[in-house]
Amino acid sequence: MRKRIVAGNWKMNKTHREGVEMLAQFFKMLDFEISLLEDTGKQLPEIIVFPPFLLVADAAMLAQGWDVKVGAQNCSSEKEGAFTGEISANMLKAAKAGYVILGHSERRNYFHETNQIVAKKIDRAFESRLQVICCVGESLQQREVSKEFPTITHQLEECLFHLTKEQMKNVVIAYEPVWAIGTGKNATPEQAQEMHNYIRSVISGKFDKETSENISILYGGSCNPQNAKLIFSQPDVDGGLIGGASLNPKDFMEVIKAIL
Ligand code: PEP
Repeated sequence: MRKRIVAGNWKMNKTHREGVEMLAQFFKMLDFEISLLEDTGKQLPEIIVFPPFLLVADAAMLAQGWDVKVGAQNCSSEKEGAFTGEISANMLKAAKAGYVILGHSERRNYFHETNQIVAKKIDRAFESRLQVICCVGESLQQREVSKEFPTITHQLEECLFHLTKEQMKNVVIAYEPVWAIGTGKNATPEQAQEMHNYIRSVISGKFDKETSENISILYGGSCNPQNAKLIFSQPDVDGGLIGGASLNPKDFMEVIKAIL
């Protein structure tokens, strides 16, 4: 059985104090949900929160004992040295991060990250024993000219195809159509299923069936309490990478419950 995951990407939101308060509220709700789940046979998915860098260490400390993982939204493509303003994978590991998001479309679009840079960052993350959520997704323009499948293939090839099957066990893929991120316009469950299934076939072609069956593929793009259940009900959708809705603990909890 592959892992079901619901992850919250806070982006550049919440001061340290606001973030700690939000986590405290979330853990209180989680405690209640766990008590309701007892004896139902249902299991929570893996929950990961991705706060801003400044909160990673404290969030990881607070999350101890809650079975909630903490990750970072980015890391440097370099190991260490004179790279002013950068945060290395090793620093994140030392801060007790378990995951890092790489290749997010906001990083690709606003900070000019290419597939080659993403691939380098993935290598740094693995050297520091971090797990990776690798984001792929097509723009509206690419979808309008029916280029969504070649676009995703190209991203997968250049970001992931240099890895070994063993390394692929520590990769989660997030399919995030750029036109759906932060726009309130989500992919339909059918569009998500079609692309997730396609991604699995590309992974199977390069690696093997086992790798493709075991890899978790998350949907991201305006996923919220209203649409999450239908999207998560698709056979190749293993959970979600949630932006806006993860900033409200109640909404984030509703999205998590939608996968139960
Ligand atoms: C994201 O940034 O990964 C994301 C999916 O954002 P939103 O849910 O706000 O569209």
